[in-house]
Amino acid sequence: MNQPLWDDQPWPPLPRLVGTVRADVCVVGLGGSGLAALDELAALGVNAIGLDAGPVGGGAAGRNGGFVLAGLAEFFHRTVARCGRDTAAALYRLTLDEIERQAREFPGMLRRPGSLRLAADAAERDDCRAHLAALGACGFPAEPYAGPEGEGILLPTDGVMQPLRRVRALAQRLRERRVLLYEHSPVRKMVPGTVATDGGVVLCGAVLVAVDGKLEVLFPELQPRARTARLQMLGTAPAPEVHFPRPCYWRYGYEYWQQQPDGSIALGGFRDHALEEEWTRQTEPTDLIQGLLEKFLREKLGVRAPVTHRWAAAVAYTPDALPVIEQVRANVWAVGAYNGTGNVVGALSARAAARRLCGEPAPWADLVARARRGGS
Ligand SMILES: Cc1cc2nc3c(=O)[nH]c(=O)nc-3n(C[C@H](O)[C@H](O)[C@H](O)COP(=O)(O)OP(=O)(O)OC[C@H]3O[C@@H](n4cnc5c(N)ncnc54)[C@H](O)[C@@H]3O)c2cc1C
Repeated sequence: MNQPLWDDQPWPPLPRLVGTVRADVCVVGLGGSGLAALDELAALGVNAIGLDAGPVGGGAAGRNGGFVLAGLAEFFHRTVARCGRDTAAALYRLTLDEIERQAREFPGMLRRPGSLRLAADAAERDDCRAHLAALGACGFPAEPYAGPEGEGILLPTDGVMQPLRRVRALAQRLRERRVLLYEHSPVRKMVPGTVATDGGVVLCGAVLVAVDGKLEVLFPELQPRARTARLQMLGTAPAPEVHFPRPCYWRYGYEYWQQQPDGSIALGGFRDHALEEEWTRQTEPTDLIQGLLEKFLREKLGVRAPVTHRWAAAVAYTPDALPVIEQVRANVWAVGAYNGTGNVVGALSARAAARRLCGEPAPWADLVARARRGGS
């Protein structure tokens, strides 16, 4: 079984690329990031088309936990330690703006109950206090939390969504604006001005590759900086015996779960319990991680409902936990490696790359570059 809980509605397939098409920009990857890039390019009046090796949302964007969180992959106080308070705060502010944009974009799709960061032990409770203090010092909303789920921090600006539904809605909106999208068209070759698939060719001025997991397969020059890992989840039937009004993450975010409006639970985590095996480009769930998830589901969360779905997907990590946003080759841009949290950071990074490629200002990309230099 490798099907996400989210795949609950039919999706009429889009065409494969056949023959030769021309565009100013070819976007590779139709997850949340590639679609955000196409949206930005359309807003800039650029003629762009999109390609994907599989279906829209078939990668991590349609198979993730659905958390829509402010900030980077590292908690805010760690980002402050990495690049200073000004840079960290400016980055955080742009993620808050992006969450607002996503809430406006498709009303009703993003719920905003806030999120709960829960501490697994005393050391993590201390870390939560440091996290809270750093947010408070910059005036960002956050409050201490103690409730039935545990103790930690409530971040009221965060949200949660059904990720595949959102990606498909984004794609549908682009199609209504006559942006050409091709599914099941894996890119086999990229040379300046040409992107080739099995059945066709795109002649274009520039390429923007928005692939998170397996980024280093398309760009071997990004190794060993970008490294692919597998993340796994499971989903259940409606579980009326539990009540989680907010998305929760626990043990420094290793485990995360949300309860959907119909009561079903989506739970992910435990990558660090098989760290070496999970540094892989394979995307099949494994017995070991699925067993740990199920034990946690029963013993920690108290869920009795049957497990109906198990799935996995690939994402990429960087040693400094900052995303890749760069021109890798002449007129070829790469974005990805969101370190496990790409719903907000991926959209921001892809929009920034699209803007850079068009010679437009891209404050997010500037700030990420500054953070990478330590804030100077
Ligand atoms: C289990 C799991 C849980 C997660 N939970 C969260 C969460 O709760 N919140 C959060 O913010 N982030 C989460 N993430 C991370 C987040 O899902 C990703 O960072 C984000 O979705 C990446 O989106 P993307 O569009 O960049 O990449 P993807 O969605 O992976 O899309 C890339 C696309 O590129 C295509 N592609 C690859 N190679 C080629 C090629 N050669 N030719 C053409 N197309 C190609 C793929 O088919 C794919 O559709 C999670 C990830 C996983 C796996």
